[in-house]
Amino acid sequence: MKFKQSEKLYKRGLTNLVGAVNSPVRAFASVGGNPLFIDKAKGSQIKDVDGNKYVDLVLSYGPMILGHRNKRVEKAISKALKKGYSFGASSVGEIKLAKIVCDAFPGMDKVRFVSSGTEAVISAIRLARAHTGFSKIIKFSGCYHGHMDAMLVAAGSGLATLSIPGSAGVPDEAVKNTLIAEYNNIESVKKHLEENSDVAAVILEPVSGNMGVVKPSDAFIKELRKITKEKGVLLICDEVMTGFRSKFGGAQEVLGIEADITCLGKVIGGGFPVGAYGARNEIMQNVSPLGAMYQAGTLSGNPIAMAAGIATLTELKRQNPYDQFNAIAEKMENILLNAAKKHNVDLVVNRFGSMINPFFTKESVSNFEEAQKSDTEKFAKFFWAMIENGIFLPPSQFEAWFLSSALSDKDLERFENAVDKAMGKVALSL
Ligand SMILES: *Cc1c(COP(=O)(O)O)cnc(C)c1O
Repeated sequence: MKFKQSEKLYKRGLTNLVGAVNSPVRAFASVGGNPLFIDKAKGSQIKDVDGNKYVDLVLSYGPMILGHRNKRVEKAISKALKKGYSFGASSVGEIKLAKIVCDAFPGMDKVRFVSSGTEAVISAIRLARAHTGFSKIIKFSGCYHGHMDAMLVAAGSGLATLSIPGSAGVPDEAVKNTLIAEYNNIESVKKHLEENSDVAAVILEPVSGNMGVVKPSDAFIKELRKITKEKGVLLICDEVMTGFRSKFGGAQEVLGIEADITCLGKVIGGGFPVGAYGARNEIMQNVSPLGAMYQAGTLSGNPIAMAAGIATLTELKRQNPYDQFNAIAEKMENILLNAAKKHNVDLVVNRFGSMINPFFTKESVSNFEEAQKSDTEKFAKFFWAMIENGIFLPPSQFEAWFLSSALSDKDLERFENAVDKAMGKVALSL
């Protein structure tokens, strides 16, 4: 496999772009080698600028749940494009997408659209503080909530990949109200709540995909919901990754919990920049123009992005691919574990719905500390061997792989063949 054109573009990109990328994980830092440049994508496949074709398990880190350029979505976008790109005034798509989103999440009466997951979280935290009058936020190590100052501590994949605990440029004052708890450890939350009477909210990924896939235990998530309710502390479910992906009603539907504030992103824009936060009326009425919490956006509710979102969610509801996702992920898990056994490689596979990933480690992974015990060098070998065999994976041990409803049996065969070869490569290096 040749990567000449990607190498050329990478060198060109270095002049005027930082590391030739616009988001750090795309730089392939933790797997070595040059990043790939993509030319185009269709269905389950993605093609780089050298003409190499891959089965795409990155899917733009989640948004492309129907695969690339779904016919119905493409038609809706084309239609919207003919009407104008942005108005600075309301249009009907916003109302339609808002209804679809609020209907999917029982705990959500109203929603506000923004332009990214990061923006959704920034706003949700401001809202929790406005509603409760308190400042402190409990977050879990390994959970990623976008790049706002207060959330850039113990923040999972991007930072873990680069082995940095937080970010330069974040002043101590910006994180002094952030308390860190351990995922799947309810005592670590209780301790903070006993020691601090001024906690506005607990924020978590109800299923994490940013330390690799890590599920909450049933006891942990139920107890978390119970104690936050008892203490009047808001529970913010950051479903930017899991919303409409785990189920139509997100991870909350699968886990049987209801957040006070829900953050959305990724899938709801169908590949366009859309984020959202929503809650019950009594909470949302704090938001301007109804209330005193200010939050705004020039391109919020952009008509093209709304059209993509409406078409994506409508098609997703029609296809209802969630059982199929579980079945495919189960097959993938077996393929990975069988290959690991055959080649004598220590491997653990975590999955939840259409999110899955292997950890190159012996012990089970239920929090960030355990995820970090994985052998990232083995992952790097595995990653490049998968690329060579036509499977495009996120270039980090700590990112989830994503499934799309466009995956075919043939794609799975290609996956099985690639995994066998890649695991063999990993074994050779032991
Ligand atoms: C991706 C992600 C974000 C950030 O969203 P952006 O659109 O990249 O700003 C926040 N929270 C979670 C759980 C995410 O997966």
